[in-house]
Amino acid sequence: MRGTPTVVIAGAGVVGLAVAALLAKGRCADRLRVHVLDARPLPRWRAETMDLRVYALSRASQRLLEHVGVWERIAAARAAPYRRMRVFEGPDAFAPGALEFDSADIGEPDLGHIVEDSLLRTVLADVVTAAPNAELGVGAEIAAVAAEPGGVTVELGPGGSARGTVLLAADGSDSAVRRLLALPVTGHRYEQTAVVMHVTSSGSHADTAWQRFLPGGPLAFLPLTDGRSSVVWSLPTDEAEKLLAAGDADVLAALQEASAGVLRTLTACSARAGFALQALHALRYTAPRVALLGDAAHTVHPLAGQGMNLGLLDAACVAAVIEDAVLAGEDPGDLKVLQRYERRRKGDNLAMLAAFDGLNRLFRLPQWAAPIRSAGMQAVAAAGPVKRLLMRRALGLAASNRDRFRW
Ligand SMILES: Cc1cc2nc3c(=O)[nH]c(=O)nc-3n(C[C@H](O)[C@H](O)[C@H](O)COP(=O)(O)OP(=O)(O)OC[C@H]3O[C@@H](n4cnc5c(N)ncnc54)[C@H](O)[C@@H]3O)c2cc1C
Repeated sequence: MRGTPTVVIAGAGVVGLAVAALLAKGRCADRLRVHVLDARPLPRWRAETMDLRVYALSRASQRLLEHVGVWERIAAARAAPYRRMRVFEGPDAFAPGALEFDSADIGEPDLGHIVEDSLLRTVLADVVTAAPNAELGVGAEIAAVAAEPGGVTVELGPGGSARGTVLLAADGSDSAVRRLLALPVTGHRYEQTAVVMHVTSSGSHADTAWQRFLPGGPLAFLPLTDGRSSVVWSLPTDEAEKLLAAGDADVLAALQEASAGVLRTLTACSARAGFALQALHALRYTAPRVALLGDAAHTVHPLAGQGMNLGLLDAACVAAVIEDAVLAGEDPGDLKVLQRYERRRKGDNLAMLAAFDGLNRLFRLPQWAAPIRSAGMQAVAAAGPVKRLLMRRALGLAASNRDRFRW
């Protein structure tokens, strides 16, 4: 390798910024340069408004954020721990067969935290812009990508270009990089749209994430620090469109009925936003000098709140692979280097995608399948070790992750 290698990152979403921060502050900080590009300006977090986009972050994601030195700032600003998760299907959240996951059962203080998108992006962007070896450019839409033996050139929409040794595509589920390089994907649209909003309730959320599986799709309430709950309601798209167009009173009435009263009376709701849902998996995560990560590589149903967590594991893995290569004097854009990342992450991501897809299908089957679902839930509820395993897995505490990532 001649000169300082440059890692160009397409997309300053949480995953792109996380990999940028890891590399900018990592073991090779003085041996490589980082250049992050995004088509749109980044949101800045503001204490007085709660972002509609929030994520349930696992312990593994928290550790990554601790590792790059931003978790303390996030916790001081706004992060809601959730200690329990209750999953149910019928009108009674406490009926036998409903599943409760309690962090106390695995000796953990919580099962994760609910954190706003704008907060994550603000603190990570601050790390990137403060690093002497990194830069962040917004308003630059990726228009063309050309990989040559010595490097990769990215042509930008308004004119100009960026050149690097390797291009990491974290540009989301409609990844322009993936499309421009004609990297094949498999997957399907769910014909479901997730409607998100925040609600105020007369009952406490009790630091619990509630999830009810309804015939049209799952409805989740995630606890927020101000006592409200964040709603993610996946519905058939025509029903979601009606809900998005409805007034507050109608939205609250529909939610009240669907919620089975877990938060008692819902008294107010915020503005709403809708997200069309799809399952997508890139058949290859890599091409010469290019690697896909986050939603660009795999987009999963939000029912288990794991898409971002998987993307952050990709970020940690690809950063470690690139650093190892630089320290070994290898070319970090070499396809065989990038394929190490692909080999380590693809199996896990695919298994998670299939599991969430299967769960969504199972719970959308008609009533005849209810006894099968109920038996399955009761079996998990009764089997302590299985439940604990599922919790550790959802927290990202599987042994494989611990071994793989230095943090
Ligand atoms: C309703 C809902 C709820 C969810 N809840 C959770 C949860 O609780 N926990 C969890 O772990 N996951 C959750 N997810 C999944 C999570 O939102 C995604 O996995 C995550 O946002 C992916 O991050 P990313 O950085 O890969 O992509 P994105 O967040 O999509 O970011 C991509 C970035 O690339 C930029 N970009 C796109 N195209 C271009 C271009 N041509 N040129 C330059 N820049 C470009 C975009 O502007 C954007 O900034 C949820 C998803 C949905 C829909």
